Amino acid sequence: MTIKTDIIIAGGGFAGLACAKALAQAGIGVTLLERKKEAGVGMHTTGIIVGECAEEFALPAHLTRKVTDVRLYAPSLRHIHLKSPNYFFLTTDTPALMRHLSDEAVKAGAVIHYDTAYEKGEKQGGQLAVNGKFSCRFLIGADGPRSKVADDFALGRNTKFLLGAEAEYAGLQLDDTNAFYCFLDQKLAFGYLGWVIPGVAVTQVGLAQRMPARPDIDAFVARMKDCFDFSKAGVVARRGGLIPVGGLVRPFANENVILLGDSAGIVSPLTAGGIHTALHYGQMLGQLLAQHLKQQGPHPADVLARTYPRFYLKQTLRFGYERFAPNWLLNAVLTNPLFTCAAGTVFFKKKRLR
Ligand SMILES: Cc1cc2nc3c(=O)[nH]c(=O)nc-3n(C[C@H](O)[C@H](O)[C@H](O)COP(=O)(O)OP(=O)(O)OC[C@H]3O[C@@H](n4cnc5c(N)ncnc54)[C@H](O)[C@@H]3O)c2cc1C
Repeated sequence: MTIKTDIIIAGGGFAGLACAKALAQAGIGVTLLERKKEAGVGMHTTGIIVGECAEEFALPAHLTRKVTDVRLYAPSLRHIHLKSPNYFFLTTDTPALMRHLSDEAVKAGAVIHYDTAYEKGEKQGGQLAVNGKFSCRFLIGADGPRSKVADDFALGRNTKFLLGAEAEYAGLQLDDTNAFYCFLDQKLAFGYLGWVIPGVAVTQVGLAQRMPARPDIDAFVARMKDCFDFSKAGVVARRGGLIPVGGLVRPFANENVILLGDSAGIVSPLTAGGIHTALHYGQMLGQLLAQHLKQQGPHPADVLARTYPRFYLKQTLRFGYERFAPNWLLNAVLTNPLFTCAAGTVFFKKKRLR
């Protein structure tokens, strides 16, 4: 028997859950398919939420921890301290946050099937058939950086990636528990950086490299032994995954399939942050779809074509950082006022999403 619904969302990450909640709140029938067994398992993200995201979305305080300062290290391990009176980051208990977002979507009326992958979608008249079992008017691809929905409907695909790896440590003491420690090193973390940050109950230690280079977390931890005492610390969890950094994919939609979040490539190519855009545009797409289905609004893809971020400047900066910033130069410029000012802008400038 075919199950009919207005919208099917493939993927229950930040983007899919925000979209499902907004649709359900507007009274639209929405079914979300997530291949993981339950919410919050198998996380890949560090889960740092930028200040402007925390201002836009009310997140439960007990699942977050505020971090206000940045210690930026050159490859030589010399560092500068950056601070902004008006800015903060939140580290999160990400598995618990995902369970919270999932509960919120279900409370609003969304139907979520865990342990159910999106496998196949095809057009059937004016409708879409999904997995040979569901029928819907719109399909949303929120299934991450390597989207199966994008493949099935010949939409744009991500082609440039960072690969991130992270270990969560218990018992790792930091001399500044208010700081996001960031390590520039083009040998260990080509095209990005390494990080150590106090999480909600653990310390998160990780790095990412521009693919095809792969992150070596053991080599990073060995390098960090000059900065932190790992002797009483133990790894309690590991995570990692792909981060698309090539910008918005094209096309990101057709008449009844729309890509969202990492599937659409709406991740900052510079900071590799994608949680805020996933939540913001997930909610926005839910609201736009609801208006459209009630015949009160334009096609959501037309609106997203004007509002999805393009990241032209950030892609240029990434290009420059990958090609023209070897370790000797990073060591030389660390304390230069221009560099300090630029670094402060990257970390602390509020990015308003349309
Ligand atoms: C190591 C690492 C660290 C990061 N750190 C940060 C950070 O600190 N701050 C930040 O802002 N961003 C960070 N990012 C990026 C951020 O995690 C992503 O941009 C964000 O998770 C995007 O949300 P999303 O919902 O689009 O995709 P995802 O969170 O990837 O969710 C996609 C979901 O789809 C599911 N799925 C995939 N295929 C299928 C299928 N066929 N059927 C059903 N379900 C499917 C997956 O299981 C997953 O649950 C990091 C990424 C990585 C890899």
